[in-house]
Amino acid sequence: MSDPEFFHEGALIGVLTTQPLDRMLDYKAPEGGCHLGAFVEVPLGPRKVLGVVWGAGQGNWDINKVRRAYRVLDAAPMRLEMREFLRRAAEYTLTPMSAMLRLATRAPGLGDPPSMRKIYRRGEGEPDRVTDARKRVLETLAEYGDLSFTLKELAEMAGVTSSVIKGLVKQNVVAEEDSPRDLPFARLDPSRPSKTLTEDQAAASTCLASEIAAARYGTTLLRGVTGSGKTEVYLEAVAAALKAGRQALVLLPEIALTAEFLKRVEERFGARPAEWHSGATMTERRRIWRMVGQGQAQLVIGARSALFLPYQNLGLVVVDEEHDTSYKQEEGVLYNARDMTVLRASICGAHVVLASATPSLESWANAENGKYKRLDLTSRFGPAVMPTMKTIDMRLDKLPSDRWVSDRLKNEVDKRIALGEQAMLFINRRGYAPITLCRACGHQVGCDDCDARMVEHRFQNRLVCHQCGESKPIPDKCPSCDAEGRMAPVGPGVERLGEEAAKLFPDARIATLSSDMYGSARALKAEIEAIAAGGADIVIGTQLVAKGHNFPNLTLVGVIDADLGLQGSDLRAAERTFQLMRQVAGRAGRAEKPGTALLQTYQPEHPVIRAILAGDEEGFWRAEAAEREQAGVPPYGRMAGIIVSGPDVAQVFDIANELARRDQPLRAIGAQVYGPAPAPIARVRGRHRVRLLVKAGKGVALQAAIARWTSQVQVKGDLRLAVDIDPQSF
Ligand code: ADP
Ligand code: ZN
Repeated sequence: MSDPEFFHEGALIGVLTTQPLDRMLDYKAPEGGCHLGAFVEVPLGPRKVLGVVWGAGQGNWDINKVRRAYRVLDAAPMRLEMREFLRRAAEYTLTPMSAMLRLATRAPGLGDPPSMRKIYRRGEGEPDRVTDARKRVLETLAEYGDLSFTLKELAEMAGVTSSVIKGLVKQNVVAEEDSPRDLPFARLDPSRPSKTLTEDQAAASTCLASEIAAARYGTTLLRGVTGSGKTEVYLEAVAAALKAGRQALVLLPEIALTAEFLKRVEERFGARPAEWHSGATMTERRRIWRMVGQGQAQLVIGARSALFLPYQNLGLVVVDEEHDTSYKQEEGVLYNARDMTVLRASICGAHVVLASATPSLESWANAENGKYKRLDLTSRFGPAVMPTMKTIDMRLDKLPSDRWVSDRLKNEVDKRIALGEQAMLFINRRGYAPITLCRACGHQVGCDDCDARMVEHRFQNRLVCHQCGESKPIPDKCPSCDAEGRMAPVGPGVERLGEEAAKLFPDARIATLSSDMYGSARALKAEIEAIAAGGADIVIGTQLVAKGHNFPNLTLVGVIDADLGLQGSDLRAAERTFQLMRQVAGRAGRAEKPGTALLQTYQPEHPVIRAILAGDEEGFWRAEAAEREQAGVPPYGRMAGIIVSGPDVAQVFDIANELARRDQPLRAIGAQVYGPAPAPIARVRGRHRVRLLVKAGKGVALQAAIARWTSQVQVKGDLRLAVDIDPQSF
């Protein structure tokens, strides 16, 4: 019997590589033959590259010239459903297949049998002499404790050459060992007793369990106020999937992946799940990639790219905080992990749970129109009640220009401290001050490469560009008029708010939480745990503190600038502000003591601010939905952004204008083009960016039309054209 999924040695195979080519390449199957979906190493010019056997070869080459694949790698072949997922995701996002494959093969060293590698970790010895390079190696090893690395990883992470490490091996400062086989993950036990669920929670978890038992695709929106027990409920869904022998994935926004959360999961299932995030070492990633592929990792908790792991038997994906904008990847492949989750689940017959206290309008609308099921948890668990929300009208306070905490807010904070409770001050701005201004000539310091102001980060003593990350020293002298000593920070950032709080509350213990102020994710996690344990009276923070953390003794949240998100013309501004304010307020009163949220605003009568206070979420969504429907924008119409970029602004506009002129393929589907106009950030890293927006009705073949449209122009040299389906702002 011949197996249609097996290619004998020398048979013609079509291979998709991770190289940026727009087609499959033909090879002869390697020695021993290969399966459909196998990971193979193939020659490409002088190089060896990674590829996947995608099917039979096309055969439109001279068979004698077709090269032979080198070898099959030691990894399970890519499953049909994964190949289908990559193909459809590429089609949806208008991304080349090779780029999708790169997302799915992020585990470096794929295929090298682990037993053949040497691994490196901290040894017993001390170096005879400490150079800068050696110090970096020691610091890197100290940071990761007992983890080990390959030579290349360690060299890259420490920024040294491998000879530095080899030198340290000789002195046994670094220990060199044969790599063990990948360590399996401890079995999770879904039958361990769960918490006793409330009636609402039990009803929701029963519904989800029956969806999972049905073993087919479906999506449920799990809506519940913060603290209502959504996590408890979806962990029961995870238990149901594991009991059914299927794998589960819980996606979280990167920064919500906290020790606190992992501890809860571990308590529920008696062992640690696989953790997939940007801080994981290469060794750990490789291990997870392989264990997921072998079906041995039952549960993965991860950031968005965990969706591209090679699950064998995926039964459930939870997208927690599904409204979070960080699910949209804005560089490289532009995809929204929430939407790609639904695609993947529909291909492999898994159930999706989208959990949020403040769902995206898209998901809310999909529940309204019946595409998604919807479950609601309406009250907080136990004695906790929703916080009382009030505004503080800042027009009535005559605050000096270098103060941001109103007297009313200060008094409320004082009261909490006197009671031994915690208060939080929230501002959605990193750094010390958003603007550095010359008081002599009015010049504002901008980034040399971007169309953005430099933000003062006093903690690092530098000005930093939030677009490209470039930084420079804080100048004494104005770069424009040369005046000495006239440069001044204007406006508040989280660091400056910390400074003000130190003056206003001299006896309080203040913790400022901003990602910039901690050397590593680990240090930040430690600080968050210390705060939760009562190690601070006042917590000051950015968006980072709005998500996921549970500070049981926190009873007051003061929002310094509730108006911040309402500026600008983005149609999603109202939704974003509503979500953020409700999330931040939800940090208060999560245990026995009731909480209060105070919003400082200059426009208390703004409809969005009023909706936030009223807490009438359904009303807000309905009003928002009506406006979007009127405007024909998502979720009631479709949008795409086309960004043309390049170092030469005239060339960029030439291409964009040509596109705008030749819009026939779009008109053919009834779509309209707006622009070109400078993109929301008009220059990044020295590249000018111009945007066209496409608006179309629902149910049209938008991607195909865009592909036909953009193929009319030649984008050459330094120019780039990127298509962003479902852009975040419009
Ligand atoms: P959400 O995810 O909706 O914000 P959580 O699941 O984090 O809510 O629950 C909030 C708090 O209440 C957590 O500390 C959680 O452990 C606790 N909790 C929720 N439901 C229960 C329950 N049925 N039994 C015991 N504790 C619960
Ligand atoms: Zn910049």
